[in-house]
Amino acid sequence: MNAAPATTTRTQTVDLAIIGSGSGNSIPDDRFAEKSIAIFEEGIYGGTCLNVGCIPTKMFVYPAEVADTASDGDRFGVHSRVDGVDWPAIRDRVFGRIDPISAGGLQYRELECENITVYDSHVEFDGRDDDGNYRLATADALILAREVVIAAGSRPVIPPVIASSGVTFHTNNDVMRLPGLPRRMIILGSGYIAAEFAHVFGSLGTDVTILARGPMLLRKLDVELSTRFTDIAAGKWDVRLNRDLVAAEDLPGGGVRLTLGDDEIVEADVLLVATGRVSNGDRLGIDTIGLALTDDGRVEVDGHGRTGARGVWALGDVSSPFQLKHVANHEQRVVQANLLKGWDATDLETFQHSVVPAAVFTHPQVAAVGMTEFEARDSGHNIAVKVQEFGDVAYGWAMEDTTSACKVIADRDTHQLLGVHIIGPQAPTLIQPAIQAMSFGLGVEDMARGQYWIHPAMPEVLENALLGLVF
Ligand SMILES: Cc1cc2nc3c(=O)[nH]c(=O)nc-3n(C[C@H](O)[C@H](O)[C@H](O)COP(=O)(O)OP(=O)(O)OC[C@H]3O[C@@H](n4cnc5c(N)ncnc54)[C@H](O)[C@@H]3O)c2cc1C
Repeated sequence: MNAAPATTTRTQTVDLAIIGSGSGNSIPDDRFAEKSIAIFEEGIYGGTCLNVGCIPTKMFVYPAEVADTASDGDRFGVHSRVDGVDWPAIRDRVFGRIDPISAGGLQYRELECENITVYDSHVEFDGRDDDGNYRLATADALILAREVVIAAGSRPVIPPVIASSGVTFHTNNDVMRLPGLPRRMIILGSGYIAAEFAHVFGSLGTDVTILARGPMLLRKLDVELSTRFTDIAAGKWDVRLNRDLVAAEDLPGGGVRLTLGDDEIVEADVLLVATGRVSNGDRLGIDTIGLALTDDGRVEVDGHGRTGARGVWALGDVSSPFQLKHVANHEQRVVQANLLKGWDATDLETFQHSVVPAAVFTHPQVAAVGMTEFEARDSGHNIAVKVQEFGDVAYGWAMEDTTSACKVIADRDTHQLLGVHIIGPQAPTLIQPAIQAMSFGLGVEDMARGQYWIHPAMPEVLENALLGLVF
């Protein structure tokens, strides 16, 4: 679909057009002061991470952790409980901080950057003009750009049954702004977004039902983690696995009813759809500039961020298979540097995609880097594996931990780490030394014995896991 303007009221020629104000907004700095730039944003300025993704979710996760800690005191002889939560206060703390940052970012670009024009509208490619400029069309403007950065991100996947039913549903885009804390919530999906929202709403007092199509939650993770997480989740939420959604409808008095296979019925006040995300590459008219999408819908780029159309670059969720903010940030820095060097430069910077960590801020927290055990075996490595329980190190005793673990996978021939997978308190923080070791090629023995590990701190679980590897 091309968005060729019906009545063009505005035309502009720029050196650089940027589609998307998430990671794309970080590209223009002082070094771009001599370039005329157009930034297009059809949604909230600042993109997913700031407005509806990483940052607000973690600001909700923290109060959820506080509630969990308060309600878990008895095990330690501390008699505490959660008497109730003030949802509007929790919500407004988050957006009272975030919304002004988004507004301030837009205002800065509009009022203080003379070389930048912000278009608050959807834009699509509409081919090239005779001079080779890319034509970018909004509903009421045509912008001609010599170079373009596609940083258009991704959006939630909505299953056809939901989309066609007309049922009322929420996604990460609006569920954090609900007027009140729902009594019952159905979460459709089994990935990290589903797991994080289950934690937030479940810990604050909502009865959560998770509907998963597969046999496991977080099933892309190493099986050690997904098995443990699924078991723990089933102990506190209504987790229904291997379910097929057949129909969805609004209930007359409010709320929703889902019909699953074998006429199983689930009802709740609120339905949250968290069934994955898809690149926005299909909404950009890239066929008009000779580009096609990858099989999984992404804009294809080379290792430097260049698409197949000269002068058109892409970064972040729209092109990256990782869909992580730290990856989008890294790619933005690479593309930013390469824009300054020039398309044909021989010293272009390159994406580093070999050691990419990820975390899930659910409860318990989860973090992973490198290969799963299955991937390591499948790729032919001769591997050593150790699973170290938190409960076997001193800080784990302090926490009376019985479910957390650190799994390390190393290559028997090179003694290099291939993968590290942690489920437990502060997993995303605990895993950082492993990310560092893998990024800089530090071998297992050097990592374990070449440094002090503070006693009796939680990282001892990683130290002991390394020492437990048998080569
Ligand atoms: C609930 C949730 C939690 C997350 N938590 C984490 C986390 O903890 N850690 C982590 O690393 N990642 C997390 N992510 C993923 C992270 O948010 C994304 O990887 C990251 O924000 C992608 O950045 P981006 O710049 O590629 O795209 P975005 O930030 O999405 O920016 C793209 C922008 O382009 C705009 N746009 C798209 N198409 C057009 C068009 N045609 N015209 C005009 N504008 C357009 C969109 O409106 C959007 O604002 C989370 C995501 C979600 C949804």
